Amino acid sequence: MAQEFEVVVIGAGPGGYIAAIRAAQLGFRTACIEGWKNAKGELALGGTCLNVGCIPSKALLSSSEEFEKAGHHLEAHGITVSGVKVDIGKMQSRKGEIVSKMTKGVEFLFKKNKITWLQGFGRFVSGGDTYSIEVSGGGGTVTAKHVIIATGSRARHLPNTVVDNELVCDNEGALAFPSVPKKLGVIGAGVIGLELGSVWRRLGAEVTILEALPNFLGACDDAISREAWKQFTKTQGLNIKLGVKIEKVTTRKTGVVVDYADDKGLAQKLECDRLIVSVGRVPNTDGLGAGTVGLKVDSRGFVEVDEHCRTNLPNVYAIGDVVRGPMLAHKAEDEGVMVAEIIAGQKPHIDYDCIPWIIYTSPEIAWVGKSEQQAKAAGIEVRTGQFPFSINGRALGINEPAGFVKVVADAKTDQVLGVHIIHARASDLIQEGVTTMEFKGAAEDIARITHGHPTLSEVGREAALNVDKRALNM
Ligand SMILES: Cc1cc2nc3c(=O)[nH]c(=O)nc-3n(C[C@H](O)[C@H](O)[C@H](O)COP(=O)(O)OP(=O)(O)OC[C@H]3O[C@@H](n4cnc5c(N)ncnc54)[C@H](O)[C@@H]3O)c2cc1C
Repeated sequence: MAQEFEVVVIGAGPGGYIAAIRAAQLGFRTACIEGWKNAKGELALGGTCLNVGCIPSKALLSSSEEFEKAGHHLEAHGITVSGVKVDIGKMQSRKGEIVSKMTKGVEFLFKKNKITWLQGFGRFVSGGDTYSIEVSGGGGTVTAKHVIIATGSRARHLPNTVVDNELVCDNEGALAFPSVPKKLGVIGAGVIGLELGSVWRRLGAEVTILEALPNFLGACDDAISREAWKQFTKTQGLNIKLGVKIEKVTTRKTGVVVDYADDKGLAQKLECDRLIVSVGRVPNTDGLGAGTVGLKVDSRGFVEVDEHCRTNLPNVYAIGDVVRGPMLAHKAEDEGVMVAEIIAGQKPHIDYDCIPWIIYTSPEIAWVGKSEQQAKAAGIEVRTGQFPFSINGRALGINEPAGFVKVVADAKTDQVLGVHIIHARASDLIQEGVTTMEFKGAAEDIARITHGHPTLSEVGREAALNVDKRALNM
């Protein structure tokens, strides 16, 4: 006998587990199918984000920042530290404990909300008024009227390059290095490549990043990408090569050789101890039985959805990395809440223009909305205001003077169209921009709101004042 549920969620990453919790809160008999196994072979909830993405990467990021701070930045405060050493084993164990705490936390939330965890991978076997889904590993078949697909994504690999996660690694291997490589190669200067490259650089690796595109951080406002380029290459010594074409990756006994053509077409070789391949992510739709039920999947493997995450099948929704839009955990979560509420007959909505982006490099980069260039390309007349952290008292106090805030506003209405920040604490500061944009606020609104002193947030206010060329402290 198939188990019957009102809502079945396929996948328990941030999209799926949040969708399951919200559906259960709304009173639906809910199950979530998830068969992820961690490196120890244990079943785990939480998907890419908790197991091999956001959470472990930020744990290592913080450890590497502390190491760099102890070694290089405390002297400015008059604190001398000698004999700073790094124990990668201990650092990795700390990361593992954080991951385990978080994934067990999701298990607790499932129990608390009476969500049934079906342990295996789900595949549609029939559709109609009710959908039947088979769960691998002897999990049997379950039926449900409403299905939420949240199967996420996995690392894209290069053709003819074997990722062994020892010498040639994707995000999973790159988060589990047992020692600091002397020379680290990274293919791809996107968000993940830059973040992971920065972690291992701070821990002492000599890092070379090879990027196929001719522009650096093309998704950012030009002013931010220029500043990031300066900080990463000149100040920190990341060796980033743009416009390259990867020809061949050869794994040797103790290292990896990458043959590539540089931006002038000249043949070059990169020899490194380990290589991270970080060239994007592909949606997990194979094995889902899409063809069996006629679920529309596009040529790149993404489930096709409308702005409310409805698929072409009645009562079937898809959310997170497996659908269009930014591959970000908070976008997946918000889509999970939205579809559960739609199933309950509510009318939720996501403003995709107000989803913040964060790159956890050092300094961090965060933005929301349009860049100056995007706004102009869309035919909007804009005014912009910028203000540096180098003359903000708090930034000087914490010894983090690098970076600035840039506000892009509509020249006619003053409505904020975008906020762009490069600074050590950009991830926390961007939220004021997000809130302002969600409320359709103006630069003048930010400028008139009292900001605590001394805080880094005052830089955002000064940037907003500077849209009207009336910054007070410059
Ligand atoms: C190194 C790294 C760092 C990142 N850092 C950040 C960050 O700082 N901030 C941020 O916002 N985003 C970050 N991301 C992106 C973020 O992890 C993803 O956007 C997010 O995890 C997407 O959530 P999801 O629920 O759509 O999918 P996923 O988290 O990928 O989860 C999908 C789940 O579905 C399961 N699944 C797949 N197929 C089936 C099936 N047929 N049946 C049952 N289960 C199935 C998988 O096992 C998986 O557990 C990072 C990603 C990486 C790789």
